Amino acid sequence: MTEVSHQQSMAAGPATAGQAVQGDLRDLFGPSTAVFASLAGPAHVVETANPAFFAVIGDERVGIGTTLAELGPDLAGQGFLAPLDRVHRTGEPHTERDVRVVRGSGAHEQEAFFDVTYEPRRDAAGTVTGILVIGVETTQVRHTQQLMAEQRALLEQIARQAPLREVLDGMARCIENLAPQEVLVSVLLADPDGAQLRHGAAPSLPDFYNRAIDGIATGEGVGSCGTAAHRREPVTVTDIATDPLWDDFRDLAKRAGLGACWSTPILARDGSLLGTFAMYHRTPRVPQDSDLALTRVFAGTAALAIERHHSEQARRTAEAHAEAAHAELARAVQAEQQLRAEAEQRATAATELAAQIRAAAATHASAPHPKHCQLGGTHGCSAPAELKVADPWGDSAWGCLSHAEEAILNVRSAFIADEDLGGLAAYLHR
Ligand SMILES: [Zn+2]
Repeated sequence: MTEVSHQQSMAAGPATAGQAVQGDLRDLFGPSTAVFASLAGPAHVVETANPAFFAVIGDERVGIGTTLAELGPDLAGQGFLAPLDRVHRTGEPHTERDVRVVRGSGAHEQEAFFDVTYEPRRDAAGTVTGILVIGVETTQVRHTQQLMAEQRALLEQIARQAPLREVLDGMARCIENLAPQEVLVSVLLADPDGAQLRHGAAPSLPDFYNRAIDGIATGEGVGSCGTAAHRREPVTVTDIATDPLWDDFRDLAKRAGLGACWSTPILARDGSLLGTFAMYHRTPRVPQDSDLALTRVFAGTAALAIERHHSEQARRTAEAHAEAAHAELARAVQAEQQLRAEAEQRATAATELAAQIRAAAATHASAPHPKHCQLGGTHGCSAPAELKVADPWGDSAWGCLSHAEEAILNVRSAFIADEDLGGLAAYLHR
């Protein structure tokens, strides 16, 4: 059992679900049952056998006294009788590792692996009279070692922040490849409010099916996944054709060739819904303890991947917001600097203009001019006329200092008339 505890400690580390994971791993390994039988004669009549033997082959009530071929009519087809015949004939013991046995049928069909030894029994004269069969089941050890290796690889992927789709896709394919029977894995991702489920990964389900499922509501009677998400607990539908939870999706499942669907909610550490993890089967099927344990282990792995993805997304969003705020601030600072520079320019220009106006007014004052400002607009201006302004078209007028300044600043073409009180002509001849 040292190997078992070794495996457990390695796999339980990063998953952190603690006790539950330990329990699931125990379920995945299960007890390694020893199988024992004593067979007599060339027809391999079962003389004695333990219950574990009959759990694999045939029925204990009718088993004793019948031949192996009668007990398990399909054994010859699986190649079990040939080595037994050989051992009986040659008297040479035979050992085989990982012998595959298919047990049950239909919804309950399961494969199993055994390390077996066939030991000849001899009478006092040394003649072979029968065979001692001793087997140790290796199914779960075999499966679990592979699965744990795959799960470690997935956890490493999550740790180095591989894209979520990649992790989930890899997880789905790994389970599909390792499962003893054909299984189609689907991961759906919950919307932030948990009201809808979106396509996550389902590499072996047909596209039309994935499209139809994308966006289904979570709720009672919405297939296995919608219901599992709603109930926050696993939903095992062993026969889609008859289960009321599939009333609305039965035809769709039939078109996709799906017979059973076991779904488990993927929950965050705070209990919120992250999505669902489902295993589909082509034919009606009842899950074994090891199937449920497998589901829990990988639902836990999926939870890690999705939570990691969410926190990474949140980090990126926060970074993007900070970047946008920074850019906005930079733009504001730049705009303010520009405005200040423009204001300074205008202030300088105004100061220069004021000086020009004062100097010009001193010379203009000695020339004949109207008494009052002519630039007061419709309301008129009663201030004394002090400065003559002109424009390129030869128009000119006398204004008070403030109206003259206003005209020069606001009427782009206006300028202070020259010393002879002329317009642009004076400048053209310069
Ligand atoms: Zn005026």
